[in-house]
Parts: sequence; structure tokens; C-alpha cells
Amino acid sequence: MKLFLTSRLLSAAGIAHGFSLRSGGVSSGPFSSLNLSASVGDDEAAVRENHELLRAAAGLTGRIATAHQVHGDRVVDARMQEIFPPTAAQEPGADAVLALADGAVGVRVADCVPILVRAGAAAAAVHAGWRGTRLQIAGRAIRALQHAAGADPARMLAAIGPCIGRCCYEVSQDLAATFRALFGPEAADDPAGNPKPHLDLRYCVEQSLLRAGVPRERIEQVEGCTSCDSGAFFSHRRDKGRTGRHLAFIEIRDL
Ligand SMILES: [Zn+2]
Repeated sequence: MKLFLTSRLLSAAGIAHGFSLRSGGVSSGPFSSLNLSASVGDDEAAVRENHELLRAAAGLTGRIATAHQVHGDRVVDARMQEIFPPTAAQEPGADAVLALADGAVGVRVADCVPILVRAGAAAAAVHAGWRGTRLQIAGRAIRALQHAAGADPARMLAAIGPCIGRCCYEVSQDLAATFRALFGPEAADDPAGNPKPHLDLRYCVEQSLLRAGVPRERIEQVEGCTSCDSGAFFSHRRDKGRTGRHLAFIEIRDL
């Protein structure tokens, strides 16, 4: 059984990475079955086993460094933290984690946008919901990789993973207007005369990456709407908050 989706661009570059799916794990009920968060009410032993299953399937050699995600714009360095299994109390509050030396980094999502970036001998995992997208966290992660790893955005590779699609993401008129102002008219439906506009987070994240200097041909959209496909994905909105979390991960090795 396939435990995760991969990016064609990152695979071609030989990078171990993935966007986990919801099946193939041992959790039950609303967390069925590959839930990768210990802070959503699931059995901790099951979450631990799910992490082991994922690591084995992905051939990961080390730990996965994650952050306590807060829908902000902080970027942290994974060398400061190597936590497995994840324990929220020990994790820094941040929404992008950089791997600047051997090791894997990850972010947890259920509707929010996961972004994986390869930058030479460094990498980043980024979590962007509407708040993080508004704060351009993806672009900030690119600039952090530039600053900390001396990487050129023109040579980076970025994969935007499964998230809630425009098809399912109804937002307030105010939010639609805000995102159209930030990212252009394609970002959301025009709220003028449309009481239920839809927001395109994927598009906004891609704009953020483009503005930070990553070329369009080096950005891949890995398809999937988390809300549409209940067989493949957990969805915070569809499942009314009681659901599991996916993990998007990327590993740097053999430096
Ligand atoms: Zn959808």
C-alpha cells in the first residue's frame, strides 16, 4: 500500500521526501489510519507506530525534526531540535523548518498547504494555512534558505502538496478581498456580488514562491484536494476538527 505521494521534480533529483496519505497506518476511528500527530487525541502508541511505518516505507535514515505549528511566519533550523516522536512541549513555535545538515524535516497538515523545498545541500518543510499564506511563509522560507545556506532561489526545487482545493475552500468576502489584493484577481472569487467566494491557497503559495525567485518550471503542484477525497486525506474542515494529520517530509543526506 502506498503511504505517501511524491513529487516528480524532487524524485528526479534523488531526494527522499513525501506527502503522507491517510491509509496504511494503525490508528482507528477519526484517525484511521495513518495519523501522524500525537496532539489530536489519538493513541500515542499508534501514532508512534505510524511514524515508524512511514519512516520505513520512505527509507528515512534519521529522525524527522518538526515544529509546534502556530500559523505564524517563523522559520527555524532543524539542528536546534531533533525530536522524534514529536512532543509539542519541546518543539519551537514555527511554521517552516530548515534542514541545513544531514537529517529530515517535516510539517503536519490537514487542509493547510505543505511545501517541500530542495536548495542545494539544504531543504525546508513549510506549513501554510490562510494565515501563513497571507504572511507569505513560503517566500520567507526561501529567503531563509538563501540566507542560511547560501542557496540561489533560481536553482531551488519546490513541491506544493495536497491541501484543501479552491473547489472546497469557501471563505468570507473580507478574506477573499484581502487575498485578491495580495496575490491578484486569480487568488479568489470576486466578493462583489458573491456571498460565498472560494480561495485558492495553492495559487497564492505558488505566487509567494515565484516572488521569492523560484522559477515556475521548478515549482510542482502535487495534486489532491484534502476535502474532496476522504479516502486519501484527512480534512480538518470536512471532518469538523476531529481528524488526523498528514506529515510532509524531506531529507538531506550524504553531504
Ligand atoms: Zn475539493
